[in-house]
Amino acid sequence: MRSKNEICLLCEQNRADKTNSHILPKTMSRRIRGVRKKVIQAHSHKMHKKNSPKQDTFKEDYLFCSTCEYYFGALERHFSLYVQPYVERAVASEDFYLLETMVSNGNHLEINGRAYVCHKAQPLMMQLLIESIVLRIHVSSKDPYEQYKFPDQLITQLRSNLMKFRSISIADVFTSCRDYQGDPIPPTYYFLFCPIMKVLPKDQSIVTEFVEPTERFFKILAGEYHIWIDTHFPPHPFLNYSPTPVKIIPLSEERYLAMNQHMFDVFFENMNRYMEESGNGFYDPKKNTPTPVDENNASM
Ligand SMILES: [Zn+2]
Repeated sequence: MRSKNEICLLCEQNRADKTNSHILPKTMSRRIRGVRKKVIQAHSHKMHKKNSPKQDTFKEDYLFCSTCEYYFGALERHFSLYVQPYVERAVASEDFYLLETMVSNGNHLEINGRAYVCHKAQPLMMQLLIESIVLRIHVSSKDPYEQYKFPDQLITQLRSNLMKFRSISIADVFTSCRDYQGDPIPPTYYFLFCPIMKVLPKDQSIVTEFVEPTERFFKILAGEYHIWIDTHFPPHPFLNYSPTPVKIIPLSEERYLAMNQHMFDVFFENMNRYMEESGNGFYDPKKNTPTPVDENNASM
Protein backbone atom coordinates (compact mmCIF):
# COMPACT_ATOMS: atom_id res chain seq x y z
CA MET A 1 0.00 0.00 0.00
CA ARG A 2 1.51 3.31 -1.04
CA SER A 3 1.35 6.46 1.03
CA LYS A 4 1.46 10.13 0.15
CA ASN A 5 4.99 10.40 1.49
CA GLU A 6 6.32 8.22 -1.28
CA ILE A 7 7.88 9.56 -4.42
CA CYS A 8 5.99 10.06 -7.70
CA LEU A 9 6.40 7.10 -10.05
CA LEU A 10 6.81 9.27 -13.14
CA CYS A 11 8.96 12.29 -12.25
CA GLU A 12 10.62 10.59 -9.25
CA GLN A 13 10.98 14.04 -7.69
CA ASN A 14 7.73 15.17 -6.09
CA ARG A 15 5.69 13.42 -3.47
CA ALA A 16 2.95 11.18 -4.87
CA ASP A 17 0.15 13.23 -3.37
CA LYS A 18 -2.53 12.51 -5.96
CA THR A 19 -5.47 10.32 -4.94
CA ASN A 20 -7.91 8.59 -7.28
CA SER A 21 -5.55 8.28 -10.25
CA HIS A 22 -7.21 6.46 -13.10
CA ILE A 23 -5.19 3.60 -14.52
CA LEU A 24 -7.04 3.73 -17.83
CA PRO A 25 -8.38 7.10 -18.96
CA LYS A 26 -11.96 7.53 -17.86
CA THR A 27 -12.78 9.39 -21.05
CA MET A 28 -12.35 6.21 -23.11
CA SER A 29 -15.33 4.55 -21.47
CA ARG A 30 -17.38 7.69 -21.03
CA ARG A 31 -19.96 6.78 -23.63
CA ILE A 32 -20.55 3.25 -22.36
CA ARG A 33 -20.96 4.40 -18.80
CA GLY A 34 -23.40 7.09 -19.78
CA VAL A 35 -25.77 4.71 -21.50
CA ARG A 36 -25.17 1.14 -20.34
CA LYS A 37 -26.71 -0.05 -17.11
CA LYS A 38 -24.53 -3.08 -16.64
CA VAL A 39 -20.79 -2.85 -16.83
CA ILE A 40 -18.37 -5.62 -15.94
CA GLN A 41 -14.98 -4.69 -14.67
CA ALA A 42 -12.79 -7.65 -15.40
CA HIS A 43 -10.76 -8.61 -12.36
CA SER A 44 -8.22 -11.12 -13.52
CA HIS A 45 -8.93 -13.82 -10.94
CA LYS A 46 -11.37 -12.42 -8.44
CA MET A 47 -14.60 -12.42 -10.35
CA HIS A 48 -15.89 -15.24 -8.16
CA LYS A 49 -15.95 -12.75 -5.31
CA LYS A 50 -18.67 -10.19 -5.25
CA ASN A 51 -17.61 -7.07 -7.05
CA SER A 52 -18.39 -3.90 -5.21
CA PRO A 53 -20.60 -1.78 -7.43
CA LYS A 54 -18.54 0.79 -9.27
CA GLN A 55 -19.40 3.48 -11.69
CA ASP A 56 -15.90 4.54 -12.41
CA THR A 57 -12.88 2.91 -13.98
CA PHE A 58 -10.14 1.57 -11.69
CA LYS A 59 -8.44 4.12 -9.51
CA GLU A 60 -5.49 4.10 -7.16
CA ASP A 61 -3.99 6.52 -4.63
CA TYR A 62 -0.47 7.93 -4.27
CA LEU A 63 1.05 6.73 -7.54
CA PHE A 64 1.85 10.15 -9.00
CA CYS A 65 2.21 13.80 -8.04
CA SER A 66 -0.38 16.38 -9.06
CA THR A 67 1.86 17.80 -11.81
CA CYS A 68 2.28 14.43 -13.52
CA GLU A 69 -1.42 13.73 -13.13
CA TYR A 70 -2.29 17.07 -14.82
CA TYR A 71 0.09 16.11 -17.60
CA PHE A 72 -1.74 12.80 -18.14
CA GLY A 73 -4.93 14.85 -18.13
CA ALA A 74 -3.55 17.07 -20.91
CA LEU A 75 -2.79 14.02 -23.07
CA GLU A 76 -6.26 12.62 -22.42
CA ARG A 77 -7.85 15.97 -23.18
CA HIS A 78 -6.13 16.06 -26.56
CA PHE A 79 -7.52 12.61 -27.29
CA SER A 80 -11.01 13.63 -26.23
CA LEU A 81 -10.87 16.75 -28.41
CA TYR A 82 -9.25 15.53 -31.61
CA VAL A 83 -9.83 11.79 -31.80
CA GLN A 84 -12.86 10.76 -29.85
CA PRO A 85 -15.60 13.02 -31.26
CA TYR A 86 -14.79 12.18 -34.86
CA VAL A 87 -14.49 8.48 -34.24
CA GLU A 88 -17.57 8.18 -32.07
CA ARG A 89 -19.80 10.27 -34.28
CA ALA A 90 -18.08 9.20 -37.51
CA VAL A 91 -18.84 12.56 -39.10
CA ALA A 92 -16.35 13.63 -41.73
CA SER A 93 -14.91 17.13 -41.53
CA GLU A 94 -11.73 18.89 -42.53
CA ASP A 95 -10.12 17.49 -39.37
CA PHE A 96 -11.12 13.95 -39.98
CA TYR A 97 -11.85 11.52 -42.77
CA LEU A 98 -12.58 7.90 -43.35
CA LEU A 99 -9.87 6.11 -45.25
CA GLU A 100 -10.98 3.06 -47.17
CA THR A 101 -8.72 0.62 -48.93
CA MET A 102 -10.13 -1.32 -51.85
CA VAL A 103 -9.38 -4.65 -53.44
CA SER A 104 -10.39 -5.77 -56.88
CA ASN A 105 -12.81 -8.63 -56.79
CA GLY A 106 -13.40 -9.76 -60.35
CA ASN A 107 -15.24 -6.94 -62.07
CA HIS A 108 -15.78 -4.64 -59.12
CA LEU A 109 -13.92 -3.04 -56.25
CA GLU A 110 -14.58 -4.06 -52.65
CA ILE A 111 -13.74 -2.25 -49.43
CA ASN A 112 -11.33 -4.36 -47.43
CA GLY A 113 -10.14 -1.92 -44.79
CA ARG A 114 -11.23 1.22 -43.00
CA ALA A 115 -9.43 3.69 -40.80
CA TYR A 116 -10.44 6.96 -39.22
CA VAL A 117 -7.72 9.49 -39.92
CA CYS A 118 -7.65 12.20 -37.27
CA HIS A 119 -5.80 15.15 -38.80
CA LYS A 120 -5.80 17.42 -35.78
CA ALA A 121 -4.54 14.77 -33.39
CA GLN A 122 -0.83 15.25 -32.70
CA PRO A 123 0.79 11.83 -33.34
CA LEU A 124 3.48 12.13 -30.67
CA MET A 125 0.94 13.22 -28.06
CA MET A 126 -1.13 10.15 -28.82
CA GLN A 127 1.94 7.98 -28.57
CA LEU A 128 2.70 9.53 -25.17
CA LEU A 129 -0.88 8.91 -24.06
CA ILE A 130 -0.47 5.20 -24.79
CA GLU A 131 2.94 5.16 -23.12
CA SER A 132 1.39 6.77 -20.05
CA ILE A 133 -1.23 4.00 -19.98
CA VAL A 134 1.52 1.36 -20.15
CA LEU A 135 3.37 3.06 -17.29
CA ARG A 136 0.17 3.32 -15.23
CA ILE A 137 -0.55 -0.39 -15.71
CA HIS A 138 3.04 -1.22 -14.77
CA VAL A 139 3.02 0.72 -11.50
CA SER A 140 -0.48 -0.29 -10.42
CA SER A 141 -0.48 -2.61 -7.44
CA LYS A 142 -4.16 -3.40 -7.76
CA ASP A 143 -6.03 -6.11 -9.52
CA PRO A 144 -6.48 -6.45 -12.48
CA TYR A 145 -3.15 -4.78 -13.27
CA GLU A 146 -0.83 -5.95 -10.52
CA GLN A 147 0.30 -8.98 -12.49
CA TYR A 148 1.37 -7.00 -15.56
CA LYS A 149 4.96 -5.84 -15.30
CA PHE A 150 7.14 -4.68 -18.16
CA PRO A 151 10.93 -4.92 -18.48
CA ASP A 152 12.81 -2.29 -16.45
CA GLN A 153 14.62 -1.05 -19.52
CA LEU A 154 11.34 -0.32 -21.26
CA ILE A 155 9.87 1.48 -18.26
CA THR A 156 13.00 3.62 -17.92
CA GLN A 157 12.60 4.58 -21.57
CA LEU A 158 8.89 5.35 -21.21
CA ARG A 159 9.63 7.60 -18.21
CA SER A 160 12.28 9.41 -20.18
CA ASN A 161 9.94 9.83 -23.19
CA LEU A 162 7.15 11.14 -21.01
CA MET A 163 9.36 13.48 -18.96
CA LYS A 164 10.72 15.15 -22.10
CA PHE A 165 7.33 16.78 -22.76
CA ARG A 166 5.86 17.06 -19.31
CA SER A 167 3.82 20.18 -18.61
CA ILE A 168 0.50 20.94 -17.01
CA SER A 169 -0.36 23.12 -20.00
CA ILE A 170 -1.93 21.27 -22.92
CA ALA A 171 -0.68 24.04 -25.26
CA ASP A 172 2.91 23.60 -24.07
CA VAL A 173 2.76 19.82 -24.47
CA PHE A 174 1.33 20.27 -27.97
CA THR A 175 3.99 22.78 -29.03
CA SER A 176 6.92 20.78 -27.71
CA CYS A 177 5.59 17.59 -29.34
CA ARG A 178 4.96 19.34 -32.64
CA ASP A 179 8.44 20.88 -32.68
CA TYR A 180 10.29 17.80 -31.51
CA GLN A 181 13.15 16.78 -33.77
CA GLY A 182 14.31 13.32 -32.89
CA ASP A 183 14.92 10.18 -34.83
CA PRO A 184 12.05 9.33 -37.13
CA ILE A 185 10.80 6.01 -35.85
CA PRO A 186 7.79 4.16 -37.19
CA PRO A 187 4.84 4.23 -34.81
CA THR A 188 4.73 1.22 -32.53
CA TYR A 189 1.21 1.30 -31.22
CA TYR A 190 -2.24 1.42 -32.61
CA PHE A 191 -5.83 1.74 -31.51
CA LEU A 192 -8.81 -0.29 -32.56
CA PHE A 193 -12.19 1.16 -31.94
CA CYS A 194 -15.37 -0.83 -31.45
CA PRO A 195 -18.63 1.07 -31.41
CA ILE A 196 -20.04 -1.20 -28.73
CA MET A 197 -23.55 0.15 -28.49
CA LYS A 198 -24.18 -0.69 -32.09
CA VAL A 199 -23.11 -4.29 -31.79
CA LEU A 200 -24.55 -5.46 -28.49
CA PRO A 201 -28.15 -6.07 -27.51
CA LYS A 202 -29.47 -3.81 -24.76
CA ASP A 203 -29.46 -6.30 -21.89
CA GLN A 204 -25.97 -7.63 -22.47
CA SER A 205 -23.17 -6.79 -20.08
CA ILE A 206 -19.78 -5.88 -21.40
CA VAL A 207 -16.21 -6.04 -20.28
CA THR A 208 -14.79 -2.54 -20.20
CA GLU A 209 -11.26 -3.03 -18.94
CA PHE A 210 -8.97 -5.86 -19.67
CA VAL A 211 -5.31 -6.55 -20.22
CA GLU A 212 -4.23 -9.64 -22.05
CA PRO A 213 -0.70 -10.55 -23.01
CA THR A 214 -0.20 -12.85 -25.95
CA GLU A 215 3.03 -13.96 -27.52
CA ARG A 216 2.91 -11.26 -30.14
CA PHE A 217 0.74 -8.51 -28.71
CA PHE A 218 -0.12 -6.97 -25.44
CA LYS A 219 -3.78 -6.04 -25.68
CA ILE A 220 -5.42 -3.41 -23.54
CA LEU A 221 -9.15 -2.89 -23.59
CA ALA A 222 -9.97 0.63 -22.46
CA GLY A 223 -13.68 1.19 -22.72
CA GLU A 224 -14.47 1.08 -26.39
CA TYR A 225 -10.83 1.25 -27.43
CA HIS A 226 -8.47 -1.64 -27.85
CA ILE A 227 -4.79 -0.77 -27.75
CA TRP A 228 -2.49 -3.34 -29.27
CA ILE A 229 1.19 -3.11 -28.46
CA ASP A 230 3.80 -5.27 -30.06
CA THR A 231 5.50 -7.21 -27.27
CA HIS A 232 8.81 -7.02 -29.11
CA PHE A 233 9.62 -3.54 -27.99
CA PRO A 234 12.40 -1.99 -30.01
CA PRO A 235 15.62 -1.29 -28.12
CA HIS A 236 15.73 2.36 -29.22
CA PRO A 237 13.87 5.35 -27.83
CA PHE A 238 10.80 5.06 -29.92
CA LEU A 239 9.79 8.67 -30.02
CA ASN A 240 8.09 9.37 -33.27
CA TYR A 241 8.02 12.79 -34.82
CA SER A 242 7.00 11.61 -38.25
CA PRO A 243 3.94 13.37 -39.68
CA THR A 244 2.02 10.09 -39.96
CA PRO A 245 -1.51 11.03 -38.95
CA VAL A 246 -3.24 9.29 -36.08
CA LYS A 247 -5.42 6.49 -37.38
CA ILE A 248 -8.08 4.62 -35.51
CA ILE A 249 -9.23 1.37 -37.03
CA PRO A 250 -12.87 0.48 -36.44
CA LEU A 251 -13.64 -3.13 -35.64
CA SER A 252 -16.33 -4.83 -37.62
CA GLU A 253 -19.18 -6.24 -35.54
CA GLU A 254 -18.01 -9.75 -36.33
CA ARG A 255 -14.44 -9.04 -35.29
CA TYR A 256 -15.47 -7.25 -32.14
CA LEU A 257 -17.69 -10.14 -31.00
CA ALA A 258 -14.92 -12.63 -31.74
CA MET A 259 -12.40 -10.57 -29.73
CA ASN A 260 -14.82 -10.13 -26.86
CA GLN A 261 -15.45 -13.87 -26.73
CA HIS A 262 -11.73 -14.50 -26.85
CA MET A 263 -11.18 -12.15 -23.93
CA PHE A 264 -13.82 -13.92 -21.87
CA ASP A 265 -12.22 -17.28 -22.69
CA VAL A 266 -8.81 -16.05 -21.58
CA PHE A 267 -10.35 -14.59 -18.47
CA PHE A 268 -12.06 -17.85 -17.45
CA GLU A 269 -8.97 -19.85 -18.27
CA ASN A 270 -6.89 -17.64 -15.96
CA MET A 271 -9.50 -17.88 -13.26
CA ASN A 272 -9.69 -21.67 -13.49
CA ARG A 273 -5.94 -21.86 -13.09
CA TYR A 274 -6.14 -19.59 -10.07
CA MET A 275 -9.01 -21.57 -8.51
CA GLU A 276 -7.20 -24.86 -9.08
CA GLU A 277 -3.98 -23.53 -7.59
CA SER A 278 -5.76 -22.15 -4.57
CA GLY A 279 -7.73 -25.38 -4.10
CA ASN A 280 -11.10 -23.75 -4.63
CA GLY A 281 -12.26 -26.17 -7.27
CA PHE A 282 -13.13 -25.44 -10.83
CA TYR A 283 -14.96 -22.43 -12.11
CA ASP A 284 -17.72 -23.09 -14.59
CA PRO A 285 -18.62 -19.98 -16.54
CA LYS A 286 -21.90 -21.56 -17.67
CA LYS A 287 -23.14 -21.83 -14.09
CA ASN A 288 -21.70 -18.60 -12.84
CA THR A 289 -22.07 -15.62 -15.05
CA PRO A 290 -19.82 -12.73 -14.12
CA THR A 291 -21.33 -10.35 -11.63
CA PRO A 292 -22.52 -7.27 -13.48
CA VAL A 293 -21.88 -3.97 -11.83
CA ASP A 294 -25.14 -2.15 -11.41
CA GLU A 295 -24.60 1.54 -11.97
CA ASN A 296 -27.90 2.43 -10.34
CA ASN A 297 -26.61 1.21 -7.00
CA ALA A 298 -23.17 2.59 -7.46
CA SER A 299 -21.57 4.28 -4.50
CA MET A 300 -19.39 7.19 -5.39
ZN1 LIG B 1 5.45 13.51 -10.66
